[in-house]
Amino acid sequence: MDDRPLSLQEMLRRALTSQVELGMGEVILPPRSASTIETELDQHMVAATESQRIVPVADIFGEERPLGPQEPQFASLDRHFDSVQNCQECPLGATRNKFVYGAGNPNADLLFIGEAPGADEDRIGEPFVGRAGQLLDKILAAIKLSREEVYIANILKCRPPGNRDPQPAEMEKCFPLLREQVALIAPKLICALGRIAAQALLKTTTPLGKLRGRWHEYEGVPMLVTYHPAALLRFQAYKKDTWADMQMLRAKYDELVG
Ligand code: SF4
Repeated sequence: MDDRPLSLQEMLRRALTSQVELGMGEVILPPRSASTIETELDQHMVAATESQRIVPVADIFGEERPLGPQEPQFASLDRHFDSVQNCQECPLGATRNKFVYGAGNPNADLLFIGEAPGADEDRIGEPFVGRAGQLLDKILAAIKLSREEVYIANILKCRPPGNRDPQPAEMEKCFPLLREQVALIAPKLICALGRIAAQALLKTTTPLGKLRGRWHEYEGVPMLVTYHPAALLRFQAYKKDTWADMQMLRAKYDELVG
């Protein structure tokens, strides 16, 4: 994710969007005058609502997305990588610096799926290498796991310019790549990081706050939803829930993997 300082307006927009996602009745804002806050609140509440209306993630895959587990079409992740690393299926192929396929243990029992590469990932070609990635490392360490034991991928393999949200058409084009990765890795557990990944995988528009903290399934694989580490960097209040999610994840990992 992009680590550049956020403008106050962007912070406000993200705070409102996140709190709307959480279903919080009370909205906490940065210190501003009441009238300014009211004006911005109105504008940004409309923007958040519009954003949710304009990006109906649940509609992206329509009825075309098969419901059952996919049989791998490639012999290995390396072969799959070779075949897709020059992908130009959507406009992001023309603006990326590096294709960010994924990283970790190709036989991992636990697969983390995030949203899309940020500036650092686009520069280096690996997922979760910026500040959010460092926090993910700490989260993994807290549940006694390391990057070498898990696999980490994103819904999109190329960075959306300016760190904007992935667009539906981009996700639709890119999703088969992730689906093949899941088939090849054949994880026993999946953890979706953030709203975009969770809603795309579960084919829903349900807010993140209502998806996290319980088990779902993606193509027969138990899947937990939690906050994206980049959100944790901005909103400390999410840490308590994230820790609860990680304890659920570790308990299931112990149950299924040992
Ligand atoms: S984002 Fe996905 S579909 Fe678009 S060019 Fe990159 S790899 Fe291809």
